Amino acid sequence: MFKRTQKFIAEYSYLVALSLCVLITASITFLLYNYTRDLLLQRLNERLMAVAATSAIQFDPEDIEYINNGGVSAVGSEIYTENVFKLQEIRNANSDIRYVYILSQTEDPNVVKFVVDADAASIIPSIDFNEDGIVDDDDVSVPGEEYDASEVPALQGPAFDSTTVDSDLTVDEWGSFLSGYSPIIKANGEVVGTLTIDVEVTDFLRIVGATFLPFLLFIFLLLLLITTLTLVIVRIWNAKVNVVRELDKQKDELLGLVSHQLATPVSSIKWYLEMLSDGDMGELNKDQKEHVEAMSRIGENMSDLVSMILDVSRIQLGRMKIEKQDLELNGFFDEILATIEPKAIEKKVEFIKRIPDSMPIAKLDRRYTNMTIENLLSNAVKYTPTGGKVVCEVKIVNNEISILVSDTGMGIPKAEQSKIFGRMYRASNARNAIDGNGFGLFVAKGAVEAQGGDIWFESEQNKGTKFFVRLPLK
Ligand code: ADP
Repeated sequence: MFKRTQKFIAEYSYLVALSLCVLITASITFLLYNYTRDLLLQRLNERLMAVAATSAIQFDPEDIEYINNGGVSAVGSEIYTENVFKLQEIRNANSDIRYVYILSQTEDPNVVKFVVDADAASIIPSIDFNEDGIVDDDDVSVPGEEYDASEVPALQGPAFDSTTVDSDLTVDEWGSFLSGYSPIIKANGEVVGTLTIDVEVTDFLRIVGATFLPFLLFIFLLLLLITTLTLVIVRIWNAKVNVVRELDKQKDELLGLVSHQLATPVSSIKWYLEMLSDGDMGELNKDQKEHVEAMSRIGENMSDLVSMILDVSRIQLGRMKIEKQDLELNGFFDEILATIEPKAIEKKVEFIKRIPDSMPIAKLDRRYTNMTIENLLSNAVKYTPTGGKVVCEVKIVNNEISILVSDTGMGIPKAEQSKIFGRMYRASNARNAIDGNGFGLFVAKGAVEAQGGDIWFESEQNKGTKFFVRLPLK
């Protein structure tokens, strides 16, 4: 399932990236649009409140009270006409103001009354306010006419307390409006009405929307460009990585081929040297024997190196072949220790072995297991100075064999420990001090893991190292 998803993403990466790009653009634009709209609306609110407040003080509260008390009978009076003109003046001063009127409160908070309206003095009504299909005198509000305030929270109180604006826009067939209110208050603090100014914001919203479209397009194109560039870079990078991988593979193939071709002549040389040193071709004098034996040792090392290189290339190419066979563990360890102990003695390193007297028969690959343990032990001796100590401890627990090789040697620097199983990696403290090639641990790890086991270590520089190996017996 996971692999299929990965494949889908790889195959349709461009489409996935593009969809993400669209999604991100849409979200960013939505957020920015709302943020800007709110910011501009807030500015508009502030300006509307300022206009409402400065306009409200132009009205004489006594006049408003007079019209309010008079109702329809006040229409035609000088005071009424004067106030209608004042309202019209306010409206004419700003082209965005559509309606200006004064409302007063009733007993019912959901109902307010018209007191005077800028449209009231138009002799010819122009809008079918009451929606009866005819534009006539009934479309002009008259003092005392009730107005439903149930859906206008500001008119249910706040508009008569202080200058305020509606929190929401009013959207109807006449457009989108923002309403601002400022109370008209008598000297004794009695509120006689509130001046209401409806500002048309349809254009404002259209402009905000219109300026946003190019912005949205710009962000989209920018994201598209970045996405395309990123994908191109990723593709180029992948192509380069594939070339490097292919070269690496070719190198491993070559390494495998060369070491394979070298293996046969090297073992022939080794074999002939053995025959020579055994006297099969006539007795050798002391000097000759010594030299042949030295050559034999070199041949042995060369043969080990060649097979190690062959193993490295096999692991790299995933062609390591494990051949499990019955392994009599006690005899197997005796053989290994027989090659290591002389080295320890020669270097004057104390060698301690803790190996159970009787171990079961295990099913393991002889060559690889031997190579692993021998490499750990010879490393322990190699990287431990004269006078140090090497311990080899073997335990059989729960159908597993666990091997511990510990030493009191130079240790591995902390910063390099994560790389130590890498191919040809040699720690900085060993690199120039002691001979080696960095193949051993790489092959050991490959060999142990291929047999279902684990290999790990603990080390402290200048204190010593402990290598642990765990292998299933069957
Ligand atoms: P080589 O010993 O030939 O260099 P290995 O692959 O066996 O290669 O080991 C890799 C590196 O790990 C060594 O070069 C050395 O830096 C470090 N190392 C391995 N075993 C020990 C050890 N017992 N003590 C300190 N360093 C070790």
